[in-house]
Amino acid sequence: MGRVYNFSAGPAVLPEEVLKEAAEEMLDYRGCGMSVMEMSHRSKAFQEIIQEAEQDIRDLMGIPDNYKVLFLQGGASTQFAMIPMNLMKNRVADYIVTGQWAKKACQEAQKYGKVNVVASSADKTFSYIPDCSDLPISPDADYVYICENNTIYGTKFKTLPNTKGKTLVADVSSCFLSEPVDVTKYGVIYGGVQKNVGPAGVAITIIREDLITEDVLPGTPTMLNYKVHADAKSLYNTPPCYGIYICGKVFKWLKKMGGLKVMKERNEKKAALLYDYLDHSQLFQGTVVPKDRSLMNVPFVTGNAELDAEFIKEAKAAGLENLGGHRTVGGMRASIYNAMPYEGVEKLVAFMKEFEEKH
Ligand SMILES: *Cc1c(COP(=O)(O)O)cnc(C)c1O
Repeated sequence: MGRVYNFSAGPAVLPEEVLKEAAEEMLDYRGCGMSVMEMSHRSKAFQEIIQEAEQDIRDLMGIPDNYKVLFLQGGASTQFAMIPMNLMKNRVADYIVTGQWAKKACQEAQKYGKVNVVASSADKTFSYIPDCSDLPISPDADYVYICENNTIYGTKFKTLPNTKGKTLVADVSSCFLSEPVDVTKYGVIYGGVQKNVGPAGVAITIIREDLITEDVLPGTPTMLNYKVHADAKSLYNTPPCYGIYICGKVFKWLKKMGGLKVMKERNEKKAALLYDYLDHSQLFQGTVVPKDRSLMNVPFVTGNAELDAEFIKEAKAAGLENLGGHRTVGGMRASIYNAMPYEGVEKLVAFMKEFEEKH
């Protein structure tokens, strides 16, 4: 069987070129006589892999010198704890709750201090992004937290919240490297890489240097201390070496494709194809307020759970996989990350049209 079009929200599609290259290097990485999986993380070959990966993501995102790039473990969810443990000097933080991942991060932070929910879109099942231009930001908040792209609900912040001078912390797991970003607007940008960058097991945290201090909450484990990882250049302990290697290859692929500006154009073109169809379909409807639509995750429904299930089943048979919505919301969701080719979305839309004619 050949490769399918994989619309999974994560772990998700990776560029075929990257997978082929990794396959070629599997048994003998560039004359080392061993796989990257088998080599010391202190070896010269791996040092080069991690240093190049860092430089390439710096180039892609235009990360200023006063930000550290950390390759960490434990997925995005570990950052839910690491952020308050390292940043909550006053033990106060403001959270904007636009979906389940923001909610989980918010709940985790409550273990460490006073958490204010300064905005939420829970009233309409997270189908929009609230107006964040003039929020009641707490005067003593250590940071303001957002989940920038809501993987489950398919919404995206098109403008960042007005944090009134407070540090902005953003979970970008599902929009990482999907478009250019002004890193200077954030204190911390982080994400699990298995959505848009690489294999599960790596989280990347980009953090402004002045936020990395010795002054962390009492009891913070060594492994959850940003300073430990920053001082050791992400090599305090054995990092997820193979995952970092694949991320590095994806960074090179993105550079070759023309960088994040080109990726944004490609992503907009793919998303427009699907959203335009949804806006005209008699059978399928998008579930998100148009102005807040994500370029990466596109949820839609027929309004009939049985028909949704039939669609997902028939799509799978046609080589269009993982179109089921998140287990907590049902319906359908097409995740169309960087590595999803335009042809994949074309094929999906053609299949939806056919399905619509039949039903
Ligand atoms: C998937 C996801 C997470 C959770 O990631 P893990 O690596 O499984 O912990 C957190 N935030 C967002 C936005 C996600 O899409």
